[in-house]
Amino acid sequence: MSDSALVNYVQISPCKNSPRKDTIKKITVHHMAGNLSVEQCGALFQNRARQVSSNYGIGSDGRVGLYVNEADRSWCSANAENDHQAVTIEVANDGGAPDWHVSDAALAKLIDLCTDICRRNGIERLNFSGDKSGNLTMHRYFTATACPGPYLASKFPYIAEQVNKRLAGADAGTIYRVQIGAFSKKENAEALAGKAKAKGFDAAVIAVKK
Ligand SMILES: [Zn+2]
Repeated sequence: MSDSALVNYVQISPCKNSPRKDTIKKITVHHMAGNLSVEQCGALFQNRARQVSSNYGIGSDGRVGLYVNEADRSWCSANAENDHQAVTIEVANDGGAPDWHVSDAALAKLIDLCTDICRRNGIERLNFSGDKSGNLTMHRYFTATACPGPYLASKFPYIAEQVNKRLAGADAGTIYRVQIGAFSKKENAEALAGKAKAKGFDAAVIAVKK
């Protein structure tokens, strides 16, 4: 099990179970309820008495911190079953209560990080179901908390959509053509198209400006 290459800062927390007891199947997104840098968040998770941690944190500047290796279970969502299966991510807030706004830089990096976690762990799709049955979950599904706050919670369908678009490999509007030759004389193009047709391919000659 590897960690993300998107990480800018590492401060491993003592608050964890090592190794995790399950394979990674989910992502749980949290908010910090504060505008912590990745360094400040890492310092908080060094405190054993608090018994909290996350696998990753994202600052409002879009930098990524690693606090618990993906191979290990973070103490993040107040639910052992979820956290043994989930990569947990704490996102900083650049605005306070009641909305707990998140910066565009942090949101963009969150989508990058979720895509990377899915790719490396064989998660084919992020399914946001609006409850804990999906594989993109919220802290509030497991305990009485406002986390991840109204703003970030409202972005979950968008996050899943953006991640799934990338996992699918291309925008729906993209097509890929196969080209087997390019000629300055039309008869040479038609001769090659004839050979391809003879082999059963649906070839076409298309004139393109040089
Ligand atoms: Zn939380």
